[in-house]
Amino acid sequence: MPGERPKQYRNLCGRTVLRHALEAFDAHPGISHVQAVIHPDDAPDFAAAADGLGLPEPIHGGETRQDSVRLGLEAVAGGNPANVLIHDGARPLVSAALISRVIEALATSDGAIPALPVHDTLKRIEGARIGETVTRDNLVRAQTPQGFHFDAILRAHHAARGQSLTDDAAVAEAFGLSVVTVPGAEDNLKITREEDLERAAHILGAGLVETRMGTGFDVHRFADGDAVQIGGISIPHSHALAGHSDADVALHALTDALLGTIADGDIGSHFPPSDPQWRGAASDIFLRHAVGLLHARDGRLVHADLTIICEAPKIGPHRDAMRTRIAEILGTEPGRISVKATTTEGLGFTGRNEGIAAQACVTVEMPRT
Ligand code: MG
Repeated sequence: MPGERPKQYRNLCGRTVLRHALEAFDAHPGISHVQAVIHPDDAPDFAAAADGLGLPEPIHGGETRQDSVRLGLEAVAGGNPANVLIHDGARPLVSAALISRVIEALATSDGAIPALPVHDTLKRIEGARIGETVTRDNLVRAQTPQGFHFDAILRAHHAARGQSLTDDAAVAEAFGLSVVTVPGAEDNLKITREEDLERAAHILGAGLVETRMGTGFDVHRFADGDAVQIGGISIPHSHALAGHSDADVALHALTDALLGTIADGDIGSHFPPSDPQWRGAASDIFLRHAVGLLHARDGRLVHADLTIICEAPKIGPHRDAMRTRIAEILGTEPGRISVKATTTEGLGFTGRNEGIAAQACVTVEMPRT
């Protein structure tokens, strides 16, 4: 898109795309020197992307990709490297294992590139019409890093000056070098479209997020009154629930379940019953506070499952109103909030209509610690 930043300088999970690639090579034990080749206009972006890595100054590329690679090779020739790996900075998810495979193959070959099989059927088209179906036998998709014996690929690039070849393996082939393939990786995708950035974030995110589950349980006894406050709503009843706050047993169980996911105490430690400021307090304050603590840790609520245990009042007719209200308090949608109810068949304190119990189970996702 015009005016948009080059893809290698776009943000991917808190670091630029290029930074991910630079770190992968910088951290690899088989790599002794990392030389970036950049467009002169990108110098400030590169400086930010490489900050703190201690890399040599980037050199400026040429008119074409092929020119840029040749200039990069010339810039490092003084160090007499045995091998060189040439990588596209728009491939951020290159793994250490893939880098190792390319390096190892150079022990027995002039060049080595990662490649993937072609699974889709290939068609050659004429306009929108299919001209022919291309056999995919022996076809692979080439990735980077592409590795070579240094002197050989530098000579090949000098010989290929002025030609227009699509990758460094093509430059090597044109010079008569033998280039082999090693297994590539689907995750080693090239960021070219917006959706590639989303896919890369998804791949990275899957390894950086952990799922946690918390449980909560609470009981409040009945007292005189004509309505119970439960699940964030008021339900007309022959009694009220007694407690220091509004005694919303369901929101209290949910609050404890949320605090459980972040291992941060319980409702009593955050809102001591001895503190007069919580007398008669609306319990949505407690639940909002707990979910706020989760958000402060970059966590997010995945799902909450609440079970209310009582003989009366009947919960079923109020289930959806509770789900809507709880979702509103938690800043999520009702589809993530489950409200269930059960009696205890006349047994125990709930069976004797002495009070209401509630238990809650909450799942959250948060950055892996
Ligand atoms: Mg309570």
